[in-house]
Amino acid sequence: MTRRKLIAGNWKMNGLNAALAEITAIGAGVAALGARAPDVLVCPPFTLISSAARGEVAIGAQDCHIGVSGAHTGDISSVMLKDAGAGSVIVGHSERRADHGEDDALVRAKAEAALAAGLRTIICVGETRAEREAGTAYAVVARQIAGSVPFAAQGTIVIAYEPVWAIGTGLTPTNDDIAAMHGAIRAELARSDAARAAVTQILYGGSVKPGNAREILALADVDGALVGGASLKAADFLGIINACV
Ligand code: PEP
Repeated sequence: MTRRKLIAGNWKMNGLNAALAEITAIGAGVAALGARAPDVLVCPPFTLISSAARGEVAIGAQDCHIGVSGAHTGDISSVMLKDAGAGSVIVGHSERRADHGEDDALVRAKAEAALAAGLRTIICVGETRAEREAGTAYAVVARQIAGSVPFAAQGTIVIAYEPVWAIGTGLTPTNDDIAAMHGAIRAELARSDAARAAVTQILYGGSVKPGNAREILALADVDGALVGGASLKAADFLGIINACV
């Protein structure tokens, strides 16, 4: 089974209008790769989606509300994201789970709303350092998959395995640990729908850089990367994109 690689950038709460030039440069670099290029996605803050979506790079968002519209001050719905030009959305990032108390049920509801709006939906899972050290990483991730993934929903679901302790720290699991967890995630998905599990992209996220991307992206069941810090500058992000070629 050949799954196309997806390299997705999560800009988090970074990026003013001037940073749109980075997305333009990313687009130029991807265009230069022609048919060899992987799927590329940039998820800037909400404020840049509309402008960024006028360019050549696929644009996504970092979160959405579970509803379509209504009295939810400060929230953005998946329908609004789609209307602004986003084609994808990240849900359940560990920073949202930690900073906003988002649990699996809420993440699943967000994923359902996003899929209903026609957005490719990237669902994040991953254990903390304490959970890894306690030997419960697989159980934690399996529980997050079971609770956060709307198995019955139609549409494109992508899973991002992001060990919390590897995000923004410069630390990464061993290659064997990444491959083993990705295999376990695919097996967990297959318990609900084997055919869908076989085509679902599973991304690794956590301190992916140009220097380690090639070896990580070559691992079994790693279908791409979700990249934070190294997605902010076109040169770094293109270094990771080029590692797919
Ligand atoms: C992320 O925030 O999804 C992430 C993987 O961050 P970083 O690449 O900076 O570790």
